[in-house]
Amino acid sequence: MSDSHPPFKRKPDAKPFRPAAPKKSSDTEEPFVPKPSGRALLRVDLDAIKDNYEAIKTACARKGRPVMVSAVVKADAYGLGAKHVSRALYGAGCRNFFVATAHEGKSLRDHIGKTPSIYVLNGPTPRELPIFYACKLKPVINNMAQAYLWDQGLKSQEARPRCAIQFDTGMNRMGFNGSELDALRSDTQLVARLNPDHLMSHLACAPDAKNRTNQKQREMFAALTKSFPPVPRSLANSAGIYLGSDYHFDMVRPGCALYGLQATDDPAQEKTRAVMQIEAPILQVNELKKGDRAGYGGSFTAPRDMTVATIGVGYADGLPLVPNGTVIGRLDKQNLSTAGRISMDLTILDMTGTRRPPKPGQIVVLYANQLQKVAQAAGVLNYQMLTMLGSRFFRSYD
Ligand SMILES: *Cc1c(COP(=O)(O)O)cnc(C)c1O
Repeated sequence: MSDSHPPFKRKPDAKPFRPAAPKKSSDTEEPFVPKPSGRALLRVDLDAIKDNYEAIKTACARKGRPVMVSAVVKADAYGLGAKHVSRALYGAGCRNFFVATAHEGKSLRDHIGKTPSIYVLNGPTPRELPIFYACKLKPVINNMAQAYLWDQGLKSQEARPRCAIQFDTGMNRMGFNGSELDALRSDTQLVARLNPDHLMSHLACAPDAKNRTNQKQREMFAALTKSFPPVPRSLANSAGIYLGSDYHFDMVRPGCALYGLQATDDPAQEKTRAVMQIEAPILQVNELKKGDRAGYGGSFTAPRDMTVATIGVGYADGLPLVPNGTVIGRLDKQNLSTAGRISMDLTILDMTGTRRPPKPGQIVVLYANQLQKVAQAAGVLNYQMLTMLGSRFFRSYD
């Protein structure tokens, strides 16, 4: 890890204010060197995302008909940046993408070109129909209201775009179940007009391999899809993939595993790795005497003389409010824990006994392989650790 801020590698939005050239007689122009920044960097490792995609492919490999690996890139690719992430996944061979809303689909279409399928999980809504048509998005049809809406709209469309149909097999969230399922099943004309190219359902308890709900959902999905056209089917999210090949059907729909999050209760079986870290420069170093307090409310009391450092990221950047003493980062190989409540824009870290004395400009690394533990300490989902990430970071994709 470099000692001082690496502003020169900051590609995307690193266009610092360039002062007017000094009026000097000399004609040898100095190369412009940006000054160190206090702004933290969110570094996303696209190669790691591609490797995770490959690892999932390997986990799904079977003889005969291969299993397609799609990518769930909703919520701006879980906060990491759908543009770069989806392009990397396209480069890795992914041709089926899932987003939550039509608007997400619209921007995704600009990023990945005309050919890949983009499925919109939340389904069609009247106001967004024109976006579906213009951007060739495929809605996931979840209920009769959505089915009628899409069917009506098809009359105006010469190309008659395809869709997916989702069944609810026990989660009671989205998808056909109960009387809605009966209504759809009995209207074969409607199903024929909808002409789905994909059938899907979603697992409620996949991280827990022992949970009997998984098997029940799988059996129900396998049985009820027999009454529908024989098109590719998917059931497994990231965690579902590790339940075994019975759960893979024709396609899998990983999200979190692509982004290096632990998907299951048994991480030993997973072969993915972390894809992001925050690099935050130290803004100030403080020496505390035993008994001194730190942070809002003075909730942290120094148990001994110690050195702390303040970095310029806080809960407005998505850091969860972890208890005092939670390890959230590292300097070199040394773990750094919080001292005092996390502020909106600032966080105080215990730097006592670091190999190198801390000084302003030094870079502290947050999350990376520690993300899972930070989430646990904060009592938030590992997913949220990514979706909460704020908009103030420099971002780099390499
Ligand atoms: C979000 C989502 C996924 C991806 O889930 P992960 O747990 O992140 O792999 C798959 N399918 C559906 C329907 C989803 O909503």
